[in-house]
This record gives sequence, C-alpha cells and structure tokens, in this order.
Amino acid sequence: MDSLETRDQAAVVREAGGQTFLSGSKAQTEAKAGSHADQQSDLLSDLQKSGCPVCNHLIKTAFEFLCERQYKLSDDDPTQRAFADQLGFCPLHTWQLAAVASPLGLSLAYPKLLERLSTILSSFSVEPSEAAGPVAALVRSPESCQVCRLLECEERAYTARFCQSLAGPAGRDAYRRSCGLCLRHLASLVVASPAAEVTGFLLGEAARRFDQTAQDLRNYALKRRAGRRVLVTCDEDEAPLRALVCLAGHKALCVPR
Ligand SMILES: [Zn+2]
Ligand SMILES: [Zn+2]
Repeated sequence: MDSLETRDQAAVVREAGGQTFLSGSKAQTEAKAGSHADQQSDLLSDLQKSGCPVCNHLIKTAFEFLCERQYKLSDDDPTQRAFADQLGFCPLHTWQLAAVASPLGLSLAYPKLLERLSTILSSFSVEPSEAAGPVAALVRSPESCQVCRLLECEERAYTARFCQSLAGPAGRDAYRRSCGLCLRHLASLVVASPAAEVTGFLLGEAARRFDQTAQDLRNYALKRRAGRRVLVTCDEDEAPLRALVCLAGHKALCVPR
C-alpha cells in the first residue's frame, strides 16, 4: 500500500491542512468545545491561508476524522463492525483513509468489511439484469458515505458562520484580503446569504478576483514566453493553481455531486 499514489494522497490531505492539525479524538473534542469567539478566530485565520477557506476547513475536518477513525479501526471491534455494516466509505474517502493509515492498520480495519461483502455477493441472483443494480449499490456514494455526510453537515454550519461574519466591516475586510471562495462554495454562501446586500458583496468580490486572476495568467504567460521568468510576480506565479481552485475547489474534495 506504500505506493506513490498512496503517498500522493497523503501529501494532498496533509498539505491541505498545513501544520495546524490536531490529531485524533483530542482535535474533535476541542473542536466541539470551541466557543463562538474561538470559531470566529478560526474563521479569520482560515481567511489568511491560501486557497478557498471553506475547502480548507472541510479538508481539515476530514483529516481529523480520518486520523481518529483509522486509529479506532485498527483496535476497536465495535468500530470495525460498524464500518462493515456501513460498507466502508466512498472511493475518495477510502483512499484518504488509506493515506493516513499504515498497511498494518488497514489489515486490521478491513477483514470484517470484506467478509460482509463476500456474504452479500454470494446471496445475489446470477441473472445479469437482476445482479447489476445490487452490485453497483455496494459502492458507497456521497449519500451513503459517512465522511461525505459529515462534511455536508460541517459545510452547512461553517457557511452559516461565514455569512454571519460578512455582516460586519471586520469580516468583510478579512474576506477582501483572502484568496476568496471556489465557485462551489460561493454557491453555498449565496444559498446561506441572509440578504441581497451580502450576496451582492460576494458576487462583486468573486467577479473582481476572477478578473484579477485572468490578468495574472495573461501576464504570467507573456513573461514566460518572452523568457522573462525573473519578472514574474508571486501573484502571477500562483495564478494557474489559484484559477483551478477557483473553478473546481481543492482536489482533495473532488466528489461528484
Ligand atoms: Zn471551496
Ligand atoms: Zn465520501
């Protein structure tokens, strides 16, 4: 399991969370106990990082959950049974779990799930038209994956807090200085927006950032083609990645919806 792909997944999940991750149950306990002031402080801190703040928050949430879950799955019989009953996670979160687990941890986590699948598959009809649907339904989807559902709840709660912070000048100033939202989370914020004034602010800021990124991309291409790499600014250097994040969100959250 220690393949390049697995290491890449680990790098994506860890890099997305930076150095601020708390591990395992300690992180979740502290997160749940966080006061309103702590949450606002976290939000302001999220706005100072590169990338979409909602994407970054959800990646951190998933990382903390998966770190705790891989530990329990390697050692706790009821957790292993519940995991088998749920038929595991969706493909994306299966690989993200693997990225934070060891081969030994996976060898302890998965036997009950695989045995359950073996029993279920043995019970299916062998008529192709009757078996195809039930076999496909064994693959966890965003609707049936526990991590996807957790992230959906967290996204709703976080976007509600985010919208509240935009009601005041401090929140708006912090947002103006941030990298802004990806399109997907811009849509989530607009849904949660309490008033046309907040929606107008969000759309205006997004339009300004998209224009600015387009200009940075043009300048980057112009200078690179002219062999003037030394003249490329930091903003222009980051523009290709910034454009992709704005359009598609962070790659660690790419689940079909
Ligand atoms: Zn996002
Ligand atoms: Zn999932």
